[in-house]
Amino acid sequence: MKKYIFVTGGVTSSLGKGIISSSLGLLLKAVGYKVTIQKFDPYLNIDPGTMSPYEHGECYVTKDGAETDLDLGHYERFLGVSTSQDNNVTTGRIYNNVISKERKGEFLGKTVQVIPHITDEIKNSFYKIGKKNEYDIIITEIGGCIGDIESLPFFEAVRQAKLDLKKENFLNIHLTLIPYLSTSGELKTKPTQHSVKKMLEAGIQPDILVCRSEHKLSKEVKNKLALFCNVSKNSVIESIDAKSIYDVPVLMREEKLHSIVLDGLGIKKKKPLRLSRWKKFLSNLHSSKNLIKIAIVGKYVSLHDAYKSISESLIHAGANLNSRVEIMWVLSEKITNQNVKNKLSRVDGVIVAPGFGKRGIEGKISAIKYVRENNIPFFGICLGMQCACIEFSRNILNKKSANSSEFDRNTDYPIIDLMEKQKKIVNKGGTMRLGSYKCKLSKNSIVRNAYKMETIEERHRHRYEFNSTFKNEFNENGMITTGINEKLNLVEVIELKNHPWFVGTQYHPEYKSRVLKPHPLFISFVSKIKSIKNG
Ligand code: GLN
Repeated sequence: MKKYIFVTGGVTSSLGKGIISSSLGLLLKAVGYKVTIQKFDPYLNIDPGTMSPYEHGECYVTKDGAETDLDLGHYERFLGVSTSQDNNVTTGRIYNNVISKERKGEFLGKTVQVIPHITDEIKNSFYKIGKKNEYDIIITEIGGCIGDIESLPFFEAVRQAKLDLKKENFLNIHLTLIPYLSTSGELKTKPTQHSVKKMLEAGIQPDILVCRSEHKLSKEVKNKLALFCNVSKNSVIESIDAKSIYDVPVLMREEKLHSIVLDGLGIKKKKPLRLSRWKKFLSNLHSSKNLIKIAIVGKYVSLHDAYKSISESLIHAGANLNSRVEIMWVLSEKITNQNVKNKLSRVDGVIVAPGFGKRGIEGKISAIKYVRENNIPFFGICLGMQCACIEFSRNILNKKSANSSEFDRNTDYPIIDLMEKQKKIVNKGGTMRLGSYKCKLSKNSIVRNAYKMETIEERHRHRYEFNSTFKNEFNENGMITTGINEKLNLVEVIELKNHPWFVGTQYHPEYKSRVLKPHPLFISFVSKIKSIKNG
């Protein structure tokens, strides 16, 4: 029988349900269970693929090509497992499924309603992954807060799930905030009491409270929460602000969250809980004295979550190399050929980030020209790679009008262009080249030496491609196309000869970096920077 844990939130959003779910998942995995995490988001978009990063942060892409919430990135990074389309479901998808069933006449003349039709569809999605028999424990994070109008059907479905499942197969963990009033020097429990009351109104009695707080919770505060919220005393867990998200599993272990969960589910540890590799990572992360400064050049830099997987990949690689990466966020649209030296002179390496649309492109191109000419390690990801191709065409091949047809439809040197297949597409959602594709790497290239493999698989999310008409011209002039998708005849990697480290990838390596398995390209990039710095 599968075990289901539902993680809900109250008082405020952004309390870190994703990190708590990931941390718990990691602990349960460490004691021998097969665990996955899924997220249910209450908005009406079918997926976050059509949303601006300003709305939603990064869109995380799974192996099977789903455009998902950035929390799925945390799940994969913490647990080291792949998620899929089924791990992220939105209200939009639920309604879409129900409405298409209605059009097919599947409801046999019934009036289609929120209860039971929408809630049934939600519950089917809750159980879908569990039915595949790959996992023992399925953690389900419900986005938003109790009390939000749009989350109501999800909470109702959780209530019903409690009835479907046996008592020992269902657990609700409710995450809340315990604010500290500095004027009176007190931690206040009232918002949590109200939030649990709201849960009770929805018919759900939380089993465990995880309380986010800036200060330690005294025994009195914990007892009071237990009494007023009707949970047992040892099920009130303190989740104090941590130095980094990666400290949370260790803090949750100290609070014995995993033991309380195992008890609640009526199961035992299959093996002793060891986190030695994780702790080694943490000690490198926090104690390293080697500081490396890397600029991320992008147009959404005011919201760091827009580049979450890239910044986490740098953290993983840095700690693995016993270095601490400090990220300098540089707004692309403010860069010009005149000020670029000033903006990038203090950094050891530069990443030009993925993105869509024209804004900031010329700034990205100026940044690439500067790092190319000044031998500064450069990593271009997706749009960053495309900009490196435009820069090379304009400034080395002397094709001054070179561009991507995304920005100039009529350019006579479309070094980045739409594939034939893409030209016919009208809908924006879910229609890019998405998910995992194979790529063959050339001998003696930076990438081949980094991966130590000839054929790799990496995830994509883009519409435009390197225009292979210009491939020979690039190779003859020193920009080598070192990664090729042979099946589609597409260039996936470029690297510059006679430069310490200049690599552009059409794919997104950042989606595959894990805490305990940093990505080889990020390792190669950071270690090159480190060796240049140390002379
Ligand atoms: N806008 C570019 C394209 O669609 C790059 C996308 C990206 O950086 N993810 O091809």
